[in-house]
Amino acid sequence: MLKKGNKLYSILTGSCPKCHQENMYLDKNPYHISKIFDMHERCSHCNTKYKIEPSFFYGAMYVSYAVGVAFAVAAFVISKLFIGASLVNTFIAIVVTLVVFMPIIIRLSRNIWINFFIHYDKDKAS
Ligand SMILES: [Zn+2]
Repeated sequence: MLKKGNKLYSILTGSCPKCHQENMYLDKNPYHISKIFDMHERCSHCNTKYKIEPSFFYGAMYVSYAVGVAFAVAAFVISKLFIGASLVNTFIAIVVTLVVFMPIIIRLSRNIWINFFIHYDKDKAS
């Protein structure tokens, strides 16, 4: 499932959406908060420009809403249905989940957003 050529590969690893050969981010670790938004200008392998237009990644905010809701629902299901926590503790679990996973949610949203517009090209990958 997770091999180059699949959109999920680019989304989950943060690699270039066109060639899947290199990472889009200067720092791979999203928990280095000060560098979370720092990306390469272009892919060194296929020369794809990541920031297609000015403020391109503002659109990722729409995606981050959906990704955030997905994490919140997952936290709710785990704490309420599996663990059987009270409603207040479930709420706390959701808030903690969203705060702890915020860097991952931000990166995932950017990866999903850029993969809407740039598609894998196996000629560029080789
Ligand atoms: Zn590339």
